[in-house]
Amino acid sequence: MLAPLSGRSVLITGASKGIGKGVANVFAEKGCKVLLAARNEALLSEAVSSIRAGGGTADYCCTDVTDAQAVQAAVDQAVQRFGGLDILCCNAGIFPNTRLKKMTAKDWDTVMDVNVKGMFHAVKSALPPLEKSDQGRIILTSSITGPITGYPGWSHYGASKAAMLGFMRTAAIELASTGITINAILPGNIATEGMTELAEEYMATMKASIPMQKLGSTDDIAYAALFLASREAGFITGQTLVVDGGQVLPESLEAMG
Ligand code: NAP
Repeated sequence: MLAPLSGRSVLITGASKGIGKGVANVFAEKGCKVLLAARNEALLSEAVSSIRAGGGTADYCCTDVTDAQAVQAAVDQAVQRFGGLDILCCNAGIFPNTRLKKMTAKDWDTVMDVNVKGMFHAVKSALPPLEKSDQGRIILTSSITGPITGYPGWSHYGASKAAMLGFMRTAAIELASTGITINAILPGNIATEGMTELAEEYMATMKASIPMQKLGSTDDIAYAALFLASREAGFITGQTLVVDGGQVLPESLEAMG
């Protein structure tokens, strides 16, 4: 069994719904003090109330990750409220679908601003308190899309998720002497609010292309994050963990068995 993470202070971006909310719930269940950051106050407040109702410690901060000052305020709030910061989950992300022919420079910038620059703001602001922790951890939510696979309409998204890994590998080296680890989870298709907004046909095709024949759950990602945050994962840095039910494995439709 892994050493307990109870009492650890955790900041999760993109935690008003989907994977981020799932990660917040699981860390709170394990006794961590969680600060949920995103833009939608009603959803954040609801998520925090539900954690508190279950006996957990949680608060929220309305944060647009593209705004460096807002991200700094979220980090400051976690430090003041919980006495420090041990774990940062950079999870906020958007995945609008636009094919190259129609894609504008603004479409490109919007995705990069949230998915890449938002991560940069969070990591940069969190470094000072993470350095003070005896178990500083940064966990990025990347994707299989970009680093491993492609999907029509997601060239900007795929580029952003691959960029997160390029950032991570150098950050891991720079941070190694501080004891802070930085790793990335690459989810396959996970059932979240963001995904169910996509066409039903997309969801059905996706299910059929996953060897385990089902979409992942937010818990599947949260438990991977728990491991990367653990004391026992302290010698793992700059690495990726694919959580996808085997989706990237088949060479062809025949290989689905
Ligand atoms: P989701 O259900 O749409 O949730 C996205 C979260 O990001 C929300 O909490 C949203 O909150 C937040 N967010 C978006 N823009 C933001 C901004 N500018 N500032 C702060 N927060 C922002 O999506 P999800 O499926 O959980 O995805 C979460 C992460 O997992 C993303 O990085 C995504 O790329 C990655 N991922 C998901 C899947 C999947 O299958 N679901 C697969 C691979 C990777 P507000 O709207 O309240 O700001």
